[in-house]
Amino acid sequence: MSEATIINPDLNFVNEIIKGGGESLKKCYQCATCSVVCNVTPEGNPFPRKEMVLAQWGQKDKLIASPDVWLCHQCSDCTAYCPRGAKPGEVLNAIRKQSIKEVALVPFFAKIATDPKLIWLLFAIPAVLFYLIMPYKSFSGVPRNAEGAMAYHLFMPVFPHIDVTFILTALFAAVSAFVGITRLWSGMKANTGDAAGSGSPFSHIVPAVTTILAHKKFADCNVNRLRQWGHLLLFYSFAGLAVVTTWAIVYLYGWEFLGIKAFGPFHFGESPYPMTDPVKMLALASSVAFALGITIILLNRLGKAAKAGMGSYFDWIFLLVVIGVGATGMASWGLRIADMEIGYFVYYIHLVFVWSLFAYAPYSKFAHLFYRTTAMVFARYSGREATK
Ligand code: SF4
Ligand code: SF4
Repeated sequence: MSEATIINPDLNFVNEIIKGGGESLKKCYQCATCSVVCNVTPEGNPFPRKEMVLAQWGQKDKLIASPDVWLCHQCSDCTAYCPRGAKPGEVLNAIRKQSIKEVALVPFFAKIATDPKLIWLLFAIPAVLFYLIMPYKSFSGVPRNAEGAMAYHLFMPVFPHIDVTFILTALFAAVSAFVGITRLWSGMKANTGDAAGSGSPFSHIVPAVTTILAHKKFADCNVNRLRQWGHLLLFYSFAGLAVVTTWAIVYLYGWEFLGIKAFGPFHFGESPYPMTDPVKMLALASSVAFALGITIILLNRLGKAAKAGMGSYFDWIFLLVVIGVGATGMASWGLRIADMEIGYFVYYIHLVFVWSLFAYAPYSKFAHLFYRTTAMVFARYSGREATK
């Protein structure tokens, strides 16, 4: 006679999923349509049907470090075709939120980044931080540069104020992400019975990253095809803005410490730089890509809400921060050109948003960048996904 399996459901976990956007969870009757229509799932290891039943049964340990939960790209094909109106795409998203909280280096940060009741604290921390380090505790009457123009580096000096704050923030985010990735990897190995790996995990990083850079998995989606373009534009606009930031640092420190003077179109020295400078052109191109990408994502999400779901606070707070970074960045640039001192306040809000984006990255929806990459590497390494 076969032995009975005792299931110990974690009801708190079920409630957290329901609260986190997975309220349709209980509707699932295990028909498996979702696993059939999902084009992202690896052959032989289909999801999300099994995740739905595991979530109903409160099997937290099996889901928190499941590679399949992270392989889902939330394209919502499954949600659109579910005959019961369950939303597996949203349920898996809610499970990923729990996974982020579980592997977090600082659980308190994960709580701030995911709990709508703590939205005030999410922004209050950087708002107080930047107010405390502001040399002038005022948003007007700030000294002007030699040409008599507004200059944000005189309002908030690049060194040490901006540099030290953001270097420490980046270090915190990097350590948090590293610890989270390590914990997720160990959990996935334990969950899949320490699956025999093919080669070194490192040998699978380049193919996984190449897939991400080309957004190949998003291209497999049917219901949310436009999302691929919105995501792609946003992804590369961030990459462009990261290059712009590094470039500006090279200009400033190259001039200040190495004495490099402006030559050709390259304006080594303090900002602001003219529009003819390549760094300015890249900044403009990235900003346009950013605005387009975010518009596509928003219109797509609102337009497909009936079929694909509206998303949860977890999605919207991340979008709000991303939009906040872009909108305040562009507004502060425009206000400086228009010589309007309200620009100092807008720039201050911009710093609050930028800090929130980076500091909470391993604790917010942004963490998908690290953890989905980890799952994709693991899927290849463990043989869960074909490596072609
Ligand atoms: S989520 Fe919907 S499609 Fe998937 S198994 Fe459940 S009822 Fe079927
Ligand atoms: S949301 Fe898309 S990727 Fe995720 S399980 Fe559903 S169909 Fe598959």
